[in-house]
Amino acid sequence: MLKLSAPFLAAVLAALCLLNSVNACAAENKPDRQVAITIDDLPAASNVMPAATITQMTTKLLTTLRDQKIPVVGFVNEKKLYKLGEVDERINDLKMWLDYGFELGNHTYSHASLNRVGLKAWEDDVIQGESVTSLLLADHKMKMRYFRHPYLHTGRDIQTRHEAEAFLAARGYRIAPITLDAWDWAYAAVYEDAKKRGDTGAQDELAKSYLAYSDAVFAYSEQLSKQIVGYEPKQILLLHGNQLEADHIGELLDLFRKRGYRFITLGDALDDPAYSLPDTYAGEDGTGWLDHWALSQGKIPQGAPVFPQAVIEKWRTLAPTQP
Ligand SMILES: [Zn+2]
Repeated sequence: MLKLSAPFLAAVLAALCLLNSVNACAAENKPDRQVAITIDDLPAASNVMPAATITQMTTKLLTTLRDQKIPVVGFVNEKKLYKLGEVDERINDLKMWLDYGFELGNHTYSHASLNRVGLKAWEDDVIQGESVTSLLLADHKMKMRYFRHPYLHTGRDIQTRHEAEAFLAARGYRIAPITLDAWDWAYAAVYEDAKKRGDTGAQDELAKSYLAYSDAVFAYSEQLSKQIVGYEPKQILLLHGNQLEADHIGELLDLFRKRGYRFITLGDALDDPAYSLPDTYAGEDGTGWLDHWALSQGKIPQGAPVFPQAVIEKWRTLAPTQP
């Protein structure tokens, strides 16, 4: 039997593709991948950024996302609104998300960890986190419908996890899980420091490293998906409101396109049956849902790309804001 090499087959498929054979094109092209984008810690992850800078950052970020028609849900910590003399502008920065056509969800008032503050205090923080955002949503004929756990802390024990989930469901929330996470918060703190100092060389280097690490994380997560879920589900990406994303989200979107992704809403992603897989994870560590499903199957995920040590070390020296 004739044995064809992989490069030879790829060349044949590419040639057939040119001849407009649709099936061959599909075979040659990358898989049809889908991702929903979510952005946490609004109006800005940094707790020291002035409102004027937040407005510039938000405008830049949202302009790119709107021009490229990317659906996004942003998650708010309303405590970040209350800086003396800046409250109106900060509320306006949130309002911009809705004016630009995006959606907002709740990320608790003060970024409270369910694993640290206890269930009752955490529930109060969820409720307190609704006031301004709900008003803004109502103004846009929308309702708050998504919740994202701060630090991805979903409960130390399964009983707390279930009680918290029942509480959220009773208040009308759908939990927003995540499956892709390249720790942009760690890069962003270092990037924003370089930007403040006007060090463009360091900014470029960090952006490059962030995109390369993201690519490695996406490849790993796609592989883990196949292993744990049996296919690549509609993925959900976790980002944060920071200048790294405002300046480089376009390149991140291009990276996704190169990997064969198109962009979908969070609601669309959640329709994937993967998000109903058995999930019995409970513990100290906040982690993504691919890990939840793997651990629920008694498997320990292996081979995740290592986060660049130099970035973590620099991040530690900066008295970082919360992730
Ligand atoms: Zn957060």
